[in-house]
Amino acid sequence: MSEPATSSTSASEQIPPGVMEALLRPSTNRPSSRTLESFSSGVTDVSMTESDFQVNKYDLLCPRPECGSIILRIGVGKLVEKPSVQMEPADRTPALLPPMPEPPAATHWWLVAPSPMEFENIGFSKPLSGDAGPQMKLLSCAECDLGPVGWSEVGGKEFWLACSRVGYRA
Ligand SMILES: [Zn+2]
Repeated sequence: MSEPATSSTSASEQIPPGVMEALLRPSTNRPSSRTLESFSSGVTDVSMTESDFQVNKYDLLCPRPECGSIILRIGVGKLVEKPSVQMEPADRTPALLPPMPEPPAATHWWLVAPSPMEFENIGFSKPLSGDAGPQMKLLSCAECDLGPVGWSEVGGKEFWLACSRVGYRA
């Protein structure tokens, strides 16, 4: 392996910001991701206006740092505030994921529609057996299975990613 050119000040002065970082990035090319929590203004910082709604301003990634699989490309998810959904038993939230607020408290979601083809990569659970009402499937990382990061109704055309449960490409 060759020495990275970190010590050369003249080189870093001539190269636009960001380029050195890109050159020095490990060859595995895993995108580095930020949590929603790390943005001081939360969803405001990770969304941008398109027509009359807000869409995701960053690629959305699997939140597992060693994975970082791309879930959704920039601009594909529509920001919606609506009631929280408890996607797993309250005491079984995976360590890497923040707990969801207690329904019916509102939380922020990325709405992906009208088909799963909009995703770059996504995994679906089997339909959850449950009480009456539409059956739900849970969304997870297609590469490492971390989830639930969102949900959809069986046969539905709307797919909901919890803004707090995805990574944002830094
Ligand atoms: Zn993953």
